Amino acid sequence: MNEFLNVDLHCHSAVSDGMLAPAVLAARAHANGVDMWSLTDHDEIGGQHEAAAAARALGLRYVTGVEISVTWAHETVHIVGLGIDPDNLTLMEGLAATRNGRLARAQKMADGLAAVGIPGAFEGALKFVGNPDLISRTHFARFLVERRTCRDVQDVFNKYLVEGKPGYVPMHWATLAHAVGWILGAGGVAVVAHPGRYPLSELELHALLQEFRDLGGSAIEVVTGSHTPEQYRKFAGLAADFGFAGSRGSDFHGPNESRIDLGKLPPLPEQVRPVWQAWA
Ligand code: AMP
Ligand code: MN
Ligand code: MN
Ligand code: MN
Repeated sequence: MNEFLNVDLHCHSAVSDGMLAPAVLAARAHANGVDMWSLTDHDEIGGQHEAAAAARALGLRYVTGVEISVTWAHETVHIVGLGIDPDNLTLMEGLAATRNGRLARAQKMADGLAAVGIPGAFEGALKFVGNPDLISRTHFARFLVERRTCRDVQDVFNKYLVEGKPGYVPMHWATLAHAVGWILGAGGVAVVAHPGRYPLSELELHALLQEFRDLGGSAIEVVTGSHTPEQYRKFAGLAADFGFAGSRGSDFHGPNESRIDLGKLPPLPEQVRPVWQAWA
């Protein structure tokens, strides 16, 4: 019987769309009782060295991480890479290419918002951006909350930033094959992030997991801030069916914004093989 290890392998810093610096997140994870932690910024590994150094100083076990934006069957899917070499050149180039369209997209998003009477959204969003290479929908959401267009970030997404809404601009992110390939090539483990969040039919979900496994993917998030307890059970079952390990991650972005803080999720269901087994 294993002792409970508080593992949190998914969160964001100001290097992508989180609100805190990597070192501040390390301190928060440690204060919340996290034993093993990973920073998984969107399409960016610029925060990895700071996160690792801060964790080391605190005696907190650190696993390198990234969350890659992928377009699969016309949907956006996120693939987390854990244990990657943060200096791997192919991974760095792949991420740079994935980030590449974000600025032009942000300008188009601002045009869409201006057309419905919300001017200045590009400049407004930029005020919240920590890394000019990584302007995201979250930064627009924070601006719309600041100007009291909506009551919270979730509300902004529902009304302005999802498909069919005025601030939505479709993107072609990395392919699944590329994302998994970059992660494996950098010595990492590929994990499907929050699989319960995608608007896929059961058939499509199975096709995604099948293709992911065929490409060398080996884990899925089971317990995440985006899943309900019912989904913990569903994805524990799918992990077993596909032979995947399971991961646990809060997807924390910032205080007063994220529903779940670092290290505060329930444990992984007992039957699930933890993705961190080899690192514990
Ligand atoms: P982007 O990569 O710019 O498309 O932004 C994606 C990010 O927006 C996600 O990682 C979440 O942080 C946030 N996000 C996406 N959908 C929602 C939603 N429905 N509610 C709140 N935040 C969301
Ligand atoms: Mn995010
Ligand atoms: Mn995600
Ligand atoms: Mn995330």
